[in-house]
Amino acid sequence: MDLSKKTQKKLCPIPAFYIHIPFCRTLCPFCTFAVRRDRANMHEKYIQGIVDEIVRRSEMLTVMEPKEGNEKHLRQVSLESIYFGGGTPSCFTIQEVSVLIKKVREYFPWSDQIEIAFEMNPDDVNPEYLSGLAEIGVNRLSLGGQSFQTSTLQQLERCHTSADLREAIASITDSLFVNWNLDLMFGIPEQSFSMFKKDVEEALVYDPTHISLYGLEIHERTPFGKNPQIRRWESEHQEQFEAMYLWATDRLEKAGLFQYELSNFSKKDYEGRNNLLVWSGQEYLGLGVGAHSYYMQTRWGNTRSIRTYLQHLEKNKMPTEFEERLSGKQLATEFLMLGLRQCKGINIEEWQTRFGLQWQKQHTEFVQGLCDEGRAFWKGQRLCLSPKGMLLADRITVQLMPELSED
Ligand code: SF4
Repeated sequence: MDLSKKTQKKLCPIPAFYIHIPFCRTLCPFCTFAVRRDRANMHEKYIQGIVDEIVRRSEMLTVMEPKEGNEKHLRQVSLESIYFGGGTPSCFTIQEVSVLIKKVREYFPWSDQIEIAFEMNPDDVNPEYLSGLAEIGVNRLSLGGQSFQTSTLQQLERCHTSADLREAIASITDSLFVNWNLDLMFGIPEQSFSMFKKDVEEALVYDPTHISLYGLEIHERTPFGKNPQIRRWESEHQEQFEAMYLWATDRLEKAGLFQYELSNFSKKDYEGRNNLLVWSGQEYLGLGVGAHSYYMQTRWGNTRSIRTYLQHLEKNKMPTEFEERLSGKQLATEFLMLGLRQCKGINIEEWQTRFGLQWQKQHTEFVQGLCDEGRAFWKGQRLCLSPKGMLLADRITVQLMPELSED
């Protein structure tokens, strides 16, 4: 698709876009995302909604555009990453995805090196679909495989089988796509350590450029969360959960997939662009139901209801459900959390100066304790967590935040 002739009238002060496609063929019992069972007859209306939102957000960003003097924002002029997530973006036809990419291109200039990443379910992958995606500019795939074991996939109530997953991988490796991620899950009820090891070993045979490794989290309001047997299984298998994670981080590194964040491993230069931008504190725009955005120290989130989302846009209103200006404390906490989840760690001195913070004796002692336990280490001024520490990243963040007013 040649989009190079489009007129680029406006600046794009935000480098990363996320587009949420909320449809899934079946709903997984652990899922907390804004998703609905797929109905093809809803696609057209939803696409129109996102198109309207692109136009509205473009107007909004023009109004919010920083004036002279705020050089940080004036410097940022092109879009570097679009991430299609969900939900299941591959429920959409190529034509439907193309409408969205073209609309973004029409309203926001983008970098020649833009990464357009696209999440797929294995049962949607086929050679025609892949070449269609490549033609409309998608250059990174993320495959929601989760496991190669039939019983594990059944436990997760996934709509694909292990045969679908192997076929999907064969199609990808035969296609033009070199940059692709495979999602794997661990800590699943009835999944033994040896089953998980088999999953990781088989994944490595296919040589993906990136693996995302997610431990199953069980949230109260989901069907898994309401199932006492599953909750019991979770609490009785914490040690195995940790052992799986530690084994996999070591195994993936040995196979040349380097950990760069708590859940993400890649070959050199194949880190997810969207991940890197967001985690380095860059601004991002989320489009679609339930999508979150962050711009000029303000965070907002769209409604999770498709009906409300469409109704708002039809009435020329933003589909925003909440909006908050982040306090200094929130920004400092977020910065620390994002830093600690990344393997390169965080420069503590810079962080303290930026947010006007000072660690007390108890913070220094806490860090020393983490280092003694092998959960953290210093790389110059940077505090880094080891895989053992990553397992506690959120709790460590809370412990390391000095008292600070909410302003
Ligand atoms: S396929 Fe993904 S987004 Fe859809 S219900 Fe399952 S976990 Fe949620």
